[in-house]
Amino acid sequence: MSLDLHVDGPRWRAHLRSVAESAPGLVPVAKGNGYGLGLARLARRSEWLETDTLAVGTYDELPEVADRFPGSLLVLTPWRPWVAPLAPELHRRVVHTVSRPADLGTLAARQPGARVVLERMTSMRRHGMTAVELWDTAPVARRRVRVEGVSIHLPMTGANLPEALRLMDDVVGAEATTVWISHMTPAELGRLRAGYPDITIRPRVGTSLWLGDRGALSVTAKVLDVHPISRGETFGYRQRHTPAPGTASHLLIVSGGTAHGIGLAAPSGGAGLRGRAAVAAKGGLESLGVLRSPYVLDGRSLHFAEPPHMQASMLLLPRGARVPDVGESLDVRVRYTATTFDSVSVS
Ligand SMILES: *Cc1c(COP(=O)(O)O)cnc(C)c1O
Repeated sequence: MSLDLHVDGPRWRAHLRSVAESAPGLVPVAKGNGYGLGLARLARRSEWLETDTLAVGTYDELPEVADRFPGSLLVLTPWRPWVAPLAPELHRRVVHTVSRPADLGTLAARQPGARVVLERMTSMRRHGMTAVELWDTAPVARRRVRVEGVSIHLPMTGANLPEALRLMDDVVGAEATTVWISHMTPAELGRLRAGYPDITIRPRVGTSLWLGDRGALSVTAKVLDVHPISRGETFGYRQRHTPAPGTASHLLIVSGGTAHGIGLAAPSGGAGLRGRAAVAAKGGLESLGVLRSPYVLDGRSLHFAEPPHMQASMLLLPRGARVPDVGESLDVRVRYTATTFDSVSVS
């Protein structure tokens, strides 16, 4: 009954190594569902990559990685006054992100000598201080806590170098010697290093590290049942009618549902615009308003018969398509960061 993630271990590990080599000072990011691979696995891999620091998204994620990765733990979500005090054994390992001047004082009072990075606001407009706030806060912070640099979180639109260079001047103004930065290409990082040789650049990387070589990853579901359908029949929770005659020959019941994060919208990048236009031109299920599912049989994406159930989905097999056997595996195109797998196997 499962939705399984298969990882080609040698290929995946080779990719991890090549990213680490191209990004000196790499800080792997392990957060959320662990990019589909699980936080524990990413923590162990980070130790294997011999990085000194691992970034997590939230304080709640610390327990899952702390025993599996021995180094420093950077928390990306900025500290706020309602964050529970750290377990004493984590005091020396956790690096807090401070994004508001007021939080610095509160944190310093609660954990004197805490390790912190100060976050500078960027065009993301998510969290962070203005340049003036940063310059005012940095000297105060240095007296009360251990400032380990400035954090800069940039958008994913690419071409972040001009903004990064502008913000580096603020880093210099705050007399910081390390900058923790996201979403820069290796070439952009090289330019930054060349421009600021006295500043240590720590690239934080999640997606392009763990999921950067999609060919090393595959996802499969199982065909749990196959039922022929004919005109006039109804099926499913919603007792829908069989679609127009000549469009679908069977119902396929497959593993994977809402509990796994299987959603109604198929992830983009599958068949592509041209493929979809071709389907619409031919008529068939797409033109009936039936939604494409992320399940693929013989290279062809299948349509949902009705919205996914909690742990299974009902699909329509187009007439003329090969009828799969119960127990057969189907490929599934998922968003890894939004999917919970029943098993993850690394070869
Ligand atoms: C999630 C996150 C990252 C990693 O982002 P990816 O796109 O997965 O590489 C880096 N920095 C911050 C602040 C983040 O929240």
